[in-house]
Amino acid sequence: MDFTNKSVIVTGASTGIGRELAREFARRGASVLVNYASSEAKAEETVALIGQAGGRAVPCRGDVSVEADADAVVRAAADAFGGVDVLVNNAGRTVFAAFADLDAISARDWQDIMGVNVAGAFNVSRAAARHMAANGGSIVNIASIAGHRPAGSSIPYCASKAALLMLTRCLAKTLGPKIRVNSVSPGFIAETAWNDKRDQAVVEEGKKLSIETSALKRAGTPKDLVGAVLYLASEEAGFCTGADILVDGGRALFN
Ligand code: NAP
Repeated sequence: MDFTNKSVIVTGASTGIGRELAREFARRGASVLVNYASSEAKAEETVALIGQAGGRAVPCRGDVSVEADADAVVRAAADAFGGVDVLVNNAGRTVFAAFADLDAISARDWQDIMGVNVAGAFNVSRAAARHMAANGGSIVNIASIAGHRPAGSSIPYCASKAALLMLTRCLAKTLGPKIRVNSVSPGFIAETAWNDKRDQAVVEEGKKLSIETSALKRAGTPKDLVGAVLYLASEEAGFCTGADILVDGGRALFN
C-alpha cells in the first residue's frame, strides 16, 4: 500500500499502536502528524524514528477531547502538508476496574473516557472532514474487542468502544461518498504503554488468559494492526465504509 504524498494524522502517536502506525504510514511515503496529549518526549521520539528512516513527520500536542485542540491538530496537518487525506483516531484512555466494583467508577472516569474515546474521535473527524470534503479521504477508528463483548479494562471503556463502533457507522453514512469511515478492533496488544502504570503481575495474568482463550495462542503487538489499518486507509479499500476488522487472534471466539 502506497501513501506517497498523502497527509496522515495519527492521534495518540507518542507510544504503542499509534507510534507503529505513524512509522508505517511514513515508511510508505506519507507525511505524518504525530499527535499526543502529554507525552512530548515520546512524541518527539516517534518523529525522530520516522526522520531516521527517511520519512517526514511533525509532532503536535492536542487533547482530542477538547474541540479547539482537535481543530488545531487538523489545521496543523493541513498547514504543514497542504491538506488531510487520512485520519487515524487512535488516542484512547481507560481506567482499570473490575466490572463488579461499580463504586470504583467515578463521574470523572465516564467524562474522561467518553470524552477521549468517543467525543475525541468525533471532534477530530469533524475537523478533518472539512479538509477532506473536496478531495475525499479516509478515517480509521481504533476501537477494541471490548466494544464487541462485555469484557475488558472497565465498564466505561467497553461502553466507549461500543459507542465508537456506532460512531464509525454513523459517520460512514453521513460523510460518504467522498469520505470513508471504518474501524479496527484490536484484542490484547502487548508492547504498548497501555498497561505501564499497572501491577505487572496482574497484567501478565490477563495476558496469559487472553493467550489461552484465543485461537492463535499469542498476544498481539502493534505490528499486527498495521495491515488492517493501512488497508482501510488506502485506496485498495475504496468500496469499504462503515466496516470493522477484528484483529484479536481469535479471542472473541471464546468466552
Ligand atoms: P498507549 O501506548 O498508552 O497509547 C495511547 C495514546 O493515546 C498515547 O499516545 C496517548 O498520548 C494518547 N492519548 C491519550 N489521551 C489523549 C488525548 N486526550 N488526546 C490525545 N492523545 C491522547 O496504548 P495503546 O495500547 O497503543 O492504545 C492505542 C489505542 O488502542 C487506544 O485507543 C486503545 O483503546 C486501543 N486498544 C488497545 C489495546 C491494547 O491491548 N493495548 C486493545 C484494544 C484497543 P499521551 O501519552 O501524550 O497522553
